[in-house]
Amino acid sequence: MTKSQGQGMSGSTAGETAAGAVGGRFRELYGAEPQGVWAAPGRVNLIGEHTDYNDGFVMPFALPHTAVAAVSRRDDGVLRLHSADVAAPVVEVAVDSLTPGTDKNWTAYPAGVVWALREAGHAVSGADIHLASAVPAGAGLSSSAALEVVVALALNDLYALGLDGRQLALLCQRAENVYVGAPVGIMDQTASACCESGHALFLDTRDLSQRQIPFDLAAEGMRLLVVDTRVKHSHSEGEYGKRRAGCEKGAALLGVDALRDVPHADLDAALERLGDEEEVRRLVRHVVTEDARVDRVVTLLEAGDTRAIGPVLTAGHASLRDDFRVSCPELDLVVDTAVAAGALGARMTGGGFGGSAIVLAEETDVDAVTEAVENAFAAAGFKTPRVFGAVPSAGARRVR
Ligand code: ADP
Ligand code: MG
Repeated sequence: MTKSQGQGMSGSTAGETAAGAVGGRFRELYGAEPQGVWAAPGRVNLIGEHTDYNDGFVMPFALPHTAVAAVSRRDDGVLRLHSADVAAPVVEVAVDSLTPGTDKNWTAYPAGVVWALREAGHAVSGADIHLASAVPAGAGLSSSAALEVVVALALNDLYALGLDGRQLALLCQRAENVYVGAPVGIMDQTASACCESGHALFLDTRDLSQRQIPFDLAAEGMRLLVVDTRVKHSHSEGEYGKRRAGCEKGAALLGVDALRDVPHADLDAALERLGDEEEVRRLVRHVVTEDARVDRVVTLLEAGDTRAIGPVLTAGHASLRDDFRVSCPELDLVVDTAVAAGALGARMTGGGFGGSAIVLAEETDVDAVTEAVENAFAAAGFKTPRVFGAVPSAGARRVR
C-alpha cells in the first residue's frame, strides 16, 4: 500500500501530490469535487512497549507516511467508501444500519469511525470517502489508526463537531475495539491525531495527559531508520492475549490496579513477593523497567542529550526479547547487526513477533548500518527487509 508518497519527498510536496491524486480519483468515483482532503500519519513507538495496557507510558512519533482521504458530507444517511489500495468497487451502506462485529473487510475501519461518532451522539448523516495510504499495512506502523483518524478528522471538520485530537483518538479507539473487534490501546490513534513534527509524544495512558518532547534528529546529525522485516508470525494475537493476562495477574498478586503502580524503586521487593511465579515475574520486570526507560528517554531528550538514548533503546529490546519474550529471530538480527555496525541503539517497535524495528544512527553511519542489516538478512535466508528513514512528522491535518 505504498503508493503516491515516496519517502524521498518532502512532507509538503508529498502531501500535495497525494491530495491531488485522491481528489482526482474522488471526482471519477463520485462525480463531483471533494469538499476537502485530509491526511493522517502512521507512527513508530520510540520507547514504551507493552506498557499501554498496564496504564503506563509510551512515546510514539508520527511518520511522514500518511493515509489521505478526499471526503464530502452527505445528508441522506448514505456512506460510500473506496480505497485506492484495494481492488474493489465503491461500498455503499446506510449509516443507521452500521452494526459492530459484522464487517470483516477494510471498510470496518472507516465505517467504525462513523458508527462511533453516531453512537457518541454526533449527527453524522453520511459521507462519500475515497482513501489512499502510504503507510505500509500490517508492518506494525499503524496503518489502521491512520485510516481511522483521517476519516474522523474529515468528519469533525465537515460536520463542525468541534472535537479535539484526544477526543477523536478515543472515538477511533472505540471504533477499532468495538466495531472492528481489535483490543488495541490508545497509543496509535493518539499518535496519529496529536503528534507534532520534530517531536515525539510522551503519553501517559492512564490519565491521557501528553507532552511534546523535542526530537529533531536531522538538526543534530542523526537519523532514525525503520526496518520492516516483512514478516508477521501467525501466533502473535494469541501471545498478545497471554501477555495481557499475565500482566493482569501480576497486578492482582501485587495488589495494585495496574503494573504502572509499581515504582521502579520497589521492583526488587515486588519480584520477591511474586515468589516462584517465574513467568509473571518476567512480565512485571519488563513493564516496570520499560516505564522507567520512557522516563529516562524523556529526561535525556529534554536535556538535549539525544545520543544517550541509544543504549536505553537497546536495553528496551533486550527486555522485550528476554523478559517479555515477544521478539523473533528477524527483529533480533536487525538489532544485533545494527548495533554491531555502529548504530547508537536499536529495538523492535510495536507488538512484536515480526513487524518493524527502529535503529538510531549517526547520519554518517546510515549507509553502513543499512548495508550490514541487508547483508545479514540475505545471509540468514530471511525476506529482504524494507529500510527507510523516518523523520518525526506532523499529526493529522487538513491538506486542502
Ligand atoms: P497495522 O495497523 O499495524 O498496519 P492492522 O492489522 O491493525 O495493522 O491494520 C491493517 C488493516 O488496515 C489492513 O488489513 C486493512 O484492512 C486496513 N488498511 C490499512 N491501509 C489501508 C488502505 N490503504 N486501504 C484499505 N484498507 C487499509
Ligand atoms: Mg493497527
